[in-house]
This record gives sequence, structure tokens and C-alpha cells, in this order.
Amino acid sequence: MSETIKTDVLIIGAGPVGLFAVFQLGLLDIKAHLVDILDKVGGQCAELYPEKPIYDIPGIPFITGQGLTEALMAQIRPFNPTFHLGEMVITIENIGDPLFRVTTDRGTVFEVKAIAIAAGGGSFQPKRPPIAGIEPYESKSVHYAVRKMDMFLDKRLLVVGGGDSALDWTLNLQPIAKRLTLVHRRDDFRGAPASVSKMRALVAAGSVDLKIGQVTLLEGDNGQLKAASIKGADGNTTRVEVDAMLPFFGLTMKLGPVADWGLAMKDELITVDTGTFESSKPGLFAIGDINTYPGKLKLILSGFHEAALMAQRAHHYVHPEKRLVFQYTTSSTSLQKKLGVA
Ligand SMILES: Cc1cc2nc3c(=O)[nH]c(=O)nc-3n(C[C@H](O)[C@H](O)[C@H](O)COP(=O)(O)OP(=O)(O)OC[C@H]3O[C@@H](n4cnc5c(N)ncnc54)[C@H](O)[C@@H]3O)c2cc1C
Repeated sequence: MSETIKTDVLIIGAGPVGLFAVFQLGLLDIKAHLVDILDKVGGQCAELYPEKPIYDIPGIPFITGQGLTEALMAQIRPFNPTFHLGEMVITIENIGDPLFRVTTDRGTVFEVKAIAIAAGGGSFQPKRPPIAGIEPYESKSVHYAVRKMDMFLDKRLLVVGGGDSALDWTLNLQPIAKRLTLVHRRDDFRGAPASVSKMRALVAAGSVDLKIGQVTLLEGDNGQLKAASIKGADGNTTRVEVDAMLPFFGLTMKLGPVADWGLAMKDELITVDTGTFESSKPGLFAIGDINTYPGKLKLILSGFHEAALMAQRAHHYVHPEKRLVFQYTTSSTSLQKKLGVA
């Protein structure tokens, strides 16, 4: 197991609210690490609607989900946060007053003075394709994410889906796979036009097999796939020999381990004090979509406000010896120095 990482605050979730929390904490000289299950930052904005417009960010008449993510990353750059992407926080233990030990599914261990849970709707979970008997193959030869490309080196792969993930992984894995078959139920792809063109060029060159239809049957032993049957739109079934299948049917959100952290909750959301955004456990805060209180609106702007108040309270735990003086970024030279603009 790796060495324990000691820092001031751990932010669980790198969605828009977790990202903005870095800014608010940074202004108060509080260092932060962030953990996110996804392999990229931006939460729902980046994962569910990167190209959709958002019209209600104060002072910004129009910005896309991805645009907002990039703007937030630029805004927090002066505070140099450390990201741990592709990791899920599993356990939180209270080991002091307050001091927490946090562990992730990859074995990373943190020791922190406060925690900001910015876990949104919880963890994004892949949607399972409607294929009977798929469960025993999951994690063994059916994978819903590519953690390490090497796993697929020289393998016969079946990529299933018609969106960006299916297309991106078709393009990325084709050069290392022994053979790659892409299956989609319609000959119409929702992904980026450039990716669709590249995929079609590989099909035309005979480097990728494209099958229009649905996977109906899996064959294999002890979780190891041997073949899949694909029923075409014309009703005919073809059998393809494969070593691994990668279905990309989109994501749903499930609460995940947040429910096990012993916090007071209502309707799968963490109840908070609206003066501090602290949960039922001192030093453990909940901001953004994951919290609830009377009048809560699941809006990005609400999460930004909550992050500011959370940081004020977290200061008491991180720097108990220091008095907190309220300052404006417009007029405070000390804040401007932290931002690198003075
Ligand atoms: C289609 C759509 C359109 C929307 N349009 C708007 C709009 O116009 N305006 C607006 O204000 N809001 C809009 N919203 C809502 C907005 O996206 C959310 O309010 C916002 O994303 C909440 O931010 P968050 O940081 O709290 O959570 P999220 O964005 O959900 O991010 C939470 C992050 O936490 C991670 N996470 C969860 N559990 C763990 C764990 N145990 N360990 C590690 N990481 C974890 C997740 O992987 C995720 O990345 C829209 C939402 C959708 C779906």
C-alpha cells in the first residue's frame, strides 16, 4: 500500500462544485486534494452534457458543460490542487478531533483535517446491456471502462454502442487489438462526426468489422468469453469469436459508498447545516447536488455558494490558531497575491 497522503482538505468529487471548492479553500490558505471515480474532471457537466449550453451561471450568459469545466480549471490553477482520478472513495474513518482517514478503491490513503463531499448524484455507473447471462463475465472479460489499454493487447475485441465512448475506444484499441468488431443497433452513430468518419475509414480499409444489430448470446467458461452472437437488423444471426467485450451504453448515477459513511441523510442526500454546510459529523461537509436542506435547488450556482461557506467553516479546523478576516478579491492585495495577479 502506498504512503499516507497528508493534506488539509480532501474533496470527494471533481464536479463543478468540487472544483470551485478548491478556489474558495485556496483563498483561505487551505490546500486540497480531489478524488473522482471518473478519469476526467467536471462531473455531470463533462460526462453528461459537455456540449450542451448552460445559461444560468451568474455573469456568464452562455457556456457549455465542457467550457465551464475548463474555466473552473483555469480559475483554480493558482492553488495547484492534486487530482486522483479514476479512484472511488470507499471508507472514511474519524481518527481525531477532527482528523479523518480516507481510503479509495485503489488503496490510496489520505489523512485530512476536513472533508468536502461534493459527490453530486453519487457514482456514475455503466448501464448494463440487456444480454441474458452477462453477469459472470463482468470484470473478467466484459469491461465497462478501459482502465489499462494493455489488457486488450492482441485480443479479439467486441465494442458495443454508438456514442462517443464506443467510437473513441474503437479508434484507440484497433491498433493494438488482434481484431476489433464494432456492434451498434443502427447504422447511425451519435458520436463526434470526426470519430464517425475515422471509424468508417477503418471499416472501409478492412481494419474494423462493423456489424449492425444486437448482441443476443454470450458463450464462454468461468467468466472468459469465447464468442458472441449478433442478431442483425435483417433477422440473421452471426457468431463472432471474441476474447473481450466492451459495452458502452451510457451511465446512470447511483449513490454508492456515500450511504455507508454514517452521516444523517434524507432521501439519499446528506442533510447539512445551511450556515456552514457541515453534515451531522463535525469536519465533514457536503456541498453541491449531494446535500439537502429546506429550499435546496440542484443548481451549479447553489453549489458555488455552499463551497464558499464550507471553506469559511473548514478554516476553523485547518487553521484553528488563525483569525479569519473577510476580504474581497477586488481589493485585497493578499488575496490577489495568492491568485498570482498582484
Ligand atoms: C442534462 C443536464 C443539464 C443540466 N443543466 C444545468 C444548468 O443549465 N444549470 C445548472 O445550474 N445545473 C444544470 N444541471 C445540474 C448540474 O449539472 C449539477 O447541479 C452539478 O453538476 C452538480 O455539481 P456537483 O459538483 O455537486 O456534482 P457532479 O457534477 O455530479 O459531480 C460529482 C462527482 O463526484 C464523483 N463521485 C461521486 N461519488 C464519489 C466517490 N465515492 N469517490 C470519488 N468520486 C465520487 C462523481 O464521479 C462526479 O464526477 C444539469 C444536469 C444535467 C444532467
